[in-house]
Amino acid sequence: MKHSYVTHANCDREHCPVCHGGLAVCAVCGAGEGELTTDCPGVPVPVEIRAQVYAGQVDYRFGGWIVRSEDSQPHPLTQFSHHEGVIA
Ligand SMILES: [Zn+2]
Ligand SMILES: [Zn+2]
Repeated sequence: MKHSYVTHANCDREHCPVCHGGLAVCAVCGAGEGELTTDCPGVPVPVEIRAQVYAGQVDYRFGGWIVRSEDSQPHPLTQFSHHEGVIA
């Protein structure tokens, strides 16, 4: 699925990062610009995972998480997948 970006219908903030700054924030996964995966996972993404997306280590596309880092350390995504049960 595609990200559903947050829009403010009646924004009264004088300097809103979304309305005036053009910041893209997904209402579904909660990721902001720079943390956005290629496709939206459709569930809220924990801040640790968003940090890894930001760092370019992981991405979500074609219906699954893609780990880009080559290191062999246990990956937090394993725990995340198990915990959530909805992410394949
Ligand atoms: Zn999203
Ligand atoms: Zn706004």
